[in-house]
Amino acid sequence: MRIVLLGAPGSGKGTQAQRLQAKYGVPQVSSGDLLRDAVARGTELGLKAKAVMEAGQLVSDDIVLGLIRDRLARPDAANGFILDGFPRNEDQANSLNALLKDIGQPIDAVLLLDVRRETLMQRLAGRRTCPKCGTVYNVHSLNGATTCPREGAELFQRPDDKEEVIGRRLEVYEKQTQPLIDYYAKLGLLRTIAGEGELDSVFERMEAAALAKPLPPSSVKVSTAKVPRNKVVVKAARKPAKKTKKVAVRTAKAKSARKPAPKAKRVKAAPKTAKRAKVAKKRPAKKAARKK
Ligand SMILES: [Zn+2]
Repeated sequence: MRIVLLGAPGSGKGTQAQRLQAKYGVPQVSSGDLLRDAVARGTELGLKAKAVMEAGQLVSDDIVLGLIRDRLARPDAANGFILDGFPRNEDQANSLNALLKDIGQPIDAVLLLDVRRETLMQRLAGRRTCPKCGTVYNVHSLNGATTCPREGAELFQRPDDKEEVIGRRLEVYEKQTQPLIDYYAKLGLLRTIAGEGELDSVFERMEAAALAKPLPPSSVKVSTAKVPRNKVVVKAARKPAKKTKKVAVRTAKAKSARKPAPKAKRVKAAPKTAKRAKVAKKRPAKKAARKK
């Protein structure tokens, strides 16, 4: 399960990533967390990043890519990863592709959690944060409470979650993400998931999209052809109880091989009989005309 997650602020991307991580044991790799962690641990890349950030500059893609490379080399990422927050533009996506190709772990799918803008606005504007434990709540689930259920601290609205700021955040996100969406769509990796509704249903859709593997056209043909045959085999195998399974399968295959043929004939035959009927109707009329 090697996945890139895309989703607006408030799309529930983080929550869904955590659930995928818990169920499939693949780490959620967030570029923000990687940076903070590297800085805190004082690794070589962390020290570089710290210097850049302290100078008020943006951390270069090379540093972030280096952190991602180190992170994916850890044993817990052997079965995959969920990349969150990176890439943010096409250049980064290209660099990431090159890196993943280099380590032999190409992306399986890019999951886009799709949520309408008005829903995002509602969700983000309703966010309240606890200053003590950092838990984020939503006013809709607090039932009027204004304090943290854990230790009673007065909840507050982060400046980022004020309505006028949210509008701008979402605009920036859309502008930034659309080229990425197009990029991954062209590569055939993009899978869009309806991100509204019950959390569990959204998770089911996420799972399905994450696990589905694109099949080459040839194998798709084979699998669709097998479906009706298997059904016939089950029926045929039940009737002749004494016969061995092999025989039953053979006859079933023969039957199923024969079956489509009459169907095809019937379909073709239908218009013919219709024509005949028309002809038959016309003939007596002609005869009648001749008689006249
Ligand atoms: Zn709290």
